[in-house]
Amino acid sequence: MSKNKSSESVKVVVRCRPLNRKEESNGLAGKIVQMDLRLGQVILRNPRAPPSEPQKTFTFDAVYDASSKQRDLYDESVRPLIDSVLAGFNGTIFAYGQTGTGKTYTMQGAWLDPEKQGVIPNAFDHIFTHISRSQPDKQYLVRASYLEIYREEIRDLLDPNHGNTRGLELRESPETGVYVQDLTSCVCKSIKEIEEVMNVGNQARAVGATDMNEHSSRSHALFLITVECSQPGPDGRKHIRVGRLNLVDLAGSERQAKTGVQGERLKEAAKINLSLSALGNVISALADGRSGHVPYRDSKLTRLLQDSLGGNAKTIMVATLGPAPQHYDETLTTLRYANRAK
Ligand code: ADP
Ligand code: MG
Repeated sequence: MSKNKSSESVKVVVRCRPLNRKEESNGLAGKIVQMDLRLGQVILRNPRAPPSEPQKTFTFDAVYDASSKQRDLYDESVRPLIDSVLAGFNGTIFAYGQTGTGKTYTMQGAWLDPEKQGVIPNAFDHIFTHISRSQPDKQYLVRASYLEIYREEIRDLLDPNHGNTRGLELRESPETGVYVQDLTSCVCKSIKEIEEVMNVGNQARAVGATDMNEHSSRSHALFLITVECSQPGPDGRKHIRVGRLNLVDLAGSERQAKTGVQGERLKEAAKINLSLSALGNVISALADGRSGHVPYRDSKLTRLLQDSLGGNAKTIMVATLGPAPQHYDETLTTLRYANRAK
């Protein structure tokens, strides 16, 4: 089937992390996730079903198994999106999945080991390398912001008082589109400077939380980068292009699955984590090419990212999975969510 224009702007990739020590030592009956890297397929086995039951197969733009390297995912799936941001378009990368499946590993990774650098530090390298090699008549301005959305409130992670202030407001203007009022924006002239911004925000995130794991599983972290490039045009006047990059480590997807699929309990789940369900609706509307009504206004997350989802913008959803049998239900839910986004 030929894909329409909108669906090409949304890519969905799935990554499965390795079994961890505990899962290995539990002596569990093997992994339930298999991948066919060439076909981009995930084959899921239900550990409770009789062997005669057919396994479920899902196909995505790309899949990454336990042996995949951070670099593989970056070079194949992320690099083209960052290139388009450098060319003045908007782009968004989401990590979606159950807590403990590798969202933060995928987005941030282990900073000190270059092999284990995630999407965000790799994007820093990419952007500043590009700038350092660009023609001298091009002038770049890179700015970074870091915020989180917790219980539908926006908090500035670069403002040390962010824990004490009320949530920030979303505003809209004809020139800049949707923006967060009073959000800190730091000009970054080097990889070191933008890494520092990231570190400051990460610390603010941890400090405000009594239980970091609990907090990160309930809040969305958004690292926002704006790349502005000005260059004299053929008419001698300065031309400015602005690309926006949104790097999003989403809240854990698990509560939605636990609340079942229908009726009052679904409504309750939508309230607890409005943004995740709204995001699913927006992405699936875009992927379907149903441009008529895209329900951006249903949550802070989708409203904030409105100008970076759809249109000329590119979106990548990285859905993360664990391979252990006890998470079968969550894993199936994640695959269905990701499948809807294609
Ligand atoms: P999440 O952010 O989704 O809650 P994390 O990124 O914190 O999950 O990952 C949970 C644990 O699994 C961490 O210890 C992380 O280092 C490890 N991990 C996740 N993905 C991978 C991977 N692809 N390869 C190796 N270790 C991983
Ligand atoms: Mg995390």
